[in-house]
Amino acid sequence: MTIFSHPSFARHEHVSFIQDAATGLKAIIAIHSSRLGPALGGCRMHAYNTDDDALTDVLRLSESMSYKAALAGLPLGGGKSVIIGHPGTDKTPALLEAFGRAVEHLGGHYIVAEDAGTGAADMRIISRQTHHVTGLADPQRGTGDPSPNTAYGVFLGLQAAVQDRFGDTSLQGMQIAVQGLGHVGMRLCALLHEAGAQLWVADPLAERVRQAQERFSAHVSTPEQIHCTAVDVFAPCALGASINDHTLPELHAAVVAGAANNQLLRPEHGDLLRQRGILYAPDYVLNAGGLIDVYYQQEEFYSRTRVRAHIERIPTTLAKIFATAREQQMATNRVADRLAKTMLL
Ligand code: NAD
Repeated sequence: MTIFSHPSFARHEHVSFIQDAATGLKAIIAIHSSRLGPALGGCRMHAYNTDDDALTDVLRLSESMSYKAALAGLPLGGGKSVIIGHPGTDKTPALLEAFGRAVEHLGGHYIVAEDAGTGAADMRIISRQTHHVTGLADPQRGTGDPSPNTAYGVFLGLQAAVQDRFGDTSLQGMQIAVQGLGHVGMRLCALLHEAGAQLWVADPLAERVRQAQERFSAHVSTPEQIHCTAVDVFAPCALGASINDHTLPELHAAVVAGAANNQLLRPEHGDLLRQRGILYAPDYVLNAGGLIDVYYQQEEFYSRTRVRAHIERIPTTLAKIFATAREQQMATNRVADRLAKTMLL
């Protein structure tokens, strides 16, 4: 495995590889940039097929955290961590504590929060060993789970994309396909349903699909077919790379706007979306609500009003990206990356 010449290395400032024989911990912490502040980013626990898959994932996620924080106007850098292992069977308090010691060792240059495969209870265990952790449940802050605020930001961003594409922010009667009914996807469905949208949903977990059918009168699709549903908006809210060589030609939606990180398998897929006349709302701009939430959770006095007011800036940022993309005939993801990179110089 190569590091400095790794295709996703993207001039990272720091990458730590952590192994703790006593607990079985194998983890990677990546700090892409600390130009705007300490690197805050979630810890993902996943049973990666290879170490290189884990490295690629952490580097790509960490780089996009820098861009996400910059475009969200937060004084934060970009970082991310991965623990290699199955969250259901390999996660132990001792392993999480060993991970906490590794975070503490970085002296605050990296601040950990939850991500796929970890949750607020895990952050509490990690906090036994480090102060550099956020997203902890407490009576003032609630559950510590940033997903409701991520869903709120995605909802507002999706509305901004609809406004740009169809000239009206109303979602009444708008047909929207939601891929993935997890923490964010299900909440997004609730907001869209309330706004009068007609939903199509898919998730490998039948119980979640049944819930969406019952609560939102959603039409049911399958994980294999949801991207090709004939809808106005496709909202990827499951895993990354849902826009790829295989799915892109099959899209029917006029807008792609969802919560998932790294929706485009490669940046060129943004160019191809543009060529097909599909408006893409760059994922890290749209899904910054969770980061905004965990940023404010670190403060002594958490204010839900301030968090929401900050999230409500997402549509303005998106509108600027859409306008620039139109003027300069560029893909929206390229415009967002360029804007963020300028802020990191
Ligand atoms: P989650 O794990 O709670 O939910 C993901 C859901 O997708 C699960 O229900 C899973 O069964 C389903 N799924 C998996 N493969 C699928 C497929 N092929 N088709 C349809 N459904 C599939 O995750 P989450 O917290 O809801 O996050 C969703 C996405 O949003 C992730 O990419 C995450 O990185 C990103 N994101 C989340 C947050 C947050 O605050 N939770 C913040 C920013 C970005």
